[in-house]
Amino acid sequence: MPLLSEVIAALDALWPPERAESWDAVGTVCGDPDAEVTRVLFAVDPVQETVDEAVRLGANLLVTHHPLYLRGTTTVAASTFKGRAVHTLIKNDIALHVAHTNADSADPGVSDALAGALDLRVTGPLVPDPTDAQGRRGLGRVCALDPPATLGHFAARVAARLPATAQGIRVAGDPDALISTVAVSGGSGDSLFADVRAAGVDAFVTADLRHHPASEAREQTPLALIDAAHWATEWPWCEQAAAQLDEISDRHGWDLRVHVSKTVTDPWTSHHAPTTTLPTSASRAPFDPSGAPN
Ligand SMILES: [Zn+2]
Repeated sequence: MPLLSEVIAALDALWPPERAESWDAVGTVCGDPDAEVTRVLFAVDPVQETVDEAVRLGANLLVTHHPLYLRGTTTVAASTFKGRAVHTLIKNDIALHVAHTNADSADPGVSDALAGALDLRVTGPLVPDPTDAQGRRGLGRVCALDPPATLGHFAARVAARLPATAQGIRVAGDPDALISTVAVSGGSGDSLFADVRAAGVDAFVTADLRHHPASEAREQTPLALIDAAHWATEWPWCEQAAAQLDEISDRHGWDLRVHVSKTVTDPWTSHHAPTTTLPTSASRAPFDPSGAPN
């Protein structure tokens, strides 16, 4: 059985912590480096639900993409929700390890997993890491869609391939437009619009797109947008990471049991289609809040 320190060293080789963004907080949050590890659970979010799942599984290590503490804290009292997670973990001898932006920019990284889930062929990073001579690491990925498909068909594929969430998939663009190149970025992607425009792709798949960046991007170019739930765009990384650790375990004869959380931890829990329709743009009239058509 490997020690936690040995498993962490293997994870750090996949996602070197020094490649995390300067504002990020990655690495081991709790855990005894000399404890033995037999079972590992991968999840996107270090929330009570996934911590409880790790307890139920009998895992000794929970690896999450999102940090538990992004900024410093002065308490891990169980009266706080984060402190309760820490208490549950330590009481059950479970270590917590975080691979966040160091996993985003890795080769393979979070966006490779997203591209793979959507059957896209990665041609390079969207924002290359200048320290990578091979030009494979960096944020986001530029991909080819082989064969090209209409935006409507491609959006249906995104909806079918990503795990279901309350949000579902939001799409901006002409459903009949032909898509042959796609930029993908797991997690919040609206800071990357300049890079997406520079890449000259037909569509951008990401999460958390806000009104103004999305609206401005649509006004400037015919770029199609596909906005999925943040959790759903990063979940494929859990499967990719679990397969990577499985391979390492086989190579070392560790016999680790590696699991992927199926718990949907996206914060949105239901979605209601609006039922009030405004007059069509052909007869754009001022909105009458009384609801009477005019
Ligand atoms: Zn994220």
